[in-house]
Amino acid sequence: MNLMNTYKRFKYQMVKGEGNYLIDENGKKYLDFLSGIAVNALGYGREDLAQAICETSKELIHSSNLFSNKNQEDLAKLLVDNTDFDKVFFANSGAEANEGAIKLARKYGELNYGEAKNVVITLGDSFHGRTLATITATGQDSFHEHFKPLPEGFVYGKINDLESIEALINEQTCAVLLEPIQGEGGVKVCTEEFLKGVRSLCDKYGALLIFDEVQTGVGRTGSFFCYQKMGVLPDILTSAKALGGGLPLGAILATDKVASAFVPGDHGSTFGGNPVACSAGKVIVENVLSPGFLEEVNKRSAYFLSGLFALKEKYSWVKELRGRGLLLGLEIEGEGASLVEKAYEKGFIINCTKGNVLRFLPPLTIKEEEIDQLIFMLDELFEERGEN
Ligand SMILES: *Cc1c(COP(=O)(O)O)cnc(C)c1O
Repeated sequence: MNLMNTYKRFKYQMVKGEGNYLIDENGKKYLDFLSGIAVNALGYGREDLAQAICETSKELIHSSNLFSNKNQEDLAKLLVDNTDFDKVFFANSGAEANEGAIKLARKYGELNYGEAKNVVITLGDSFHGRTLATITATGQDSFHEHFKPLPEGFVYGKINDLESIEALINEQTCAVLLEPIQGEGGVKVCTEEFLKGVRSLCDKYGALLIFDEVQTGVGRTGSFFCYQKMGVLPDILTSAKALGGGLPLGAILATDKVASAFVPGDHGSTFGGNPVACSAGKVIVENVLSPGFLEEVNKRSAYFLSGLFALKEKYSWVKELRGRGLLLGLEIEGEGASLVEKAYEKGFIINCTKGNVLRFLPPLTIKEEEIDQLIFMLDELFEERGEN
């Protein structure tokens, strides 16, 4: 094996996908409740997606951002027309989108308030990516160890604790960066009250509010972007994961006022907004925004929640059920990794985050009968674990 040892990988390779199933090299099928970590929003084997990727590849795979490309402009228009933002920058990943958003906030801060306005407040248990700046933004010590010195200008508040933000925010704060629902951090949902409080603190101190919607966006939580149901408007929003339909694509969305801080030379990317990735992105966004699609997601979410709720009631060691849309988590007592492994054996892909939160991120196309199968399987697994 010539790969660096950065992942504990499953012993079999996945070689095909069909509907909401993955199929491994032995032909075993797995019902997928992870979607390649919140990426494969439309499931597998999508003709429309494959066709768009195929056709664009035949025309032109890459020309760089020194030239405009229609797919990039079309996708930007779709994003702008269906959100409260005016301008888009395309990157290749969530980390890069966040990195760019932090740069944009610092430039905006400097232009409007001077160089000292450069501190970013993030939250404990957050996750913002793997680059040096985004691991620093990530409010978890375990991500910082071994990689010091880290970039300066990051401080950490607590989710749903407005006082913790109040204690940190001041004239030097250029932005508050947060996930409206912390995905990697254990499916923790920001309350509307907290988000509204943070919004008004940002306004009071001239700081920008940045939502990292890399995981929560593109229909995952039952609206196109999560902020649209939370009654709070951020100044900058980052997207990635599901946006490219499995191809590397990230985006920074911002209002005109904020976006205008960037001028040529401030930021860039060789690959960002590549024609093929953007043609895939168009298919994803068009599907997610097609009539009835998000209503279905919300129906499935309610159905899924009621199944998980019944498990929570039945097993005393299941402590909490959290999440929105199809980003759901069950916090349990004890560790979850062995349950994930047993689920694989039974032909289900689930995930555990923070050691004890079973996380469910199925394709948005998951069917009720498939949810039934998962709940039935979990009930079996939980029963085996014992001690109701
Ligand atoms: C996955 C994730 C990222 C990082 O995205 P990459 O594409 O892996 O760089 C950033 N923020 C959040 C909230 C994420 O879930």
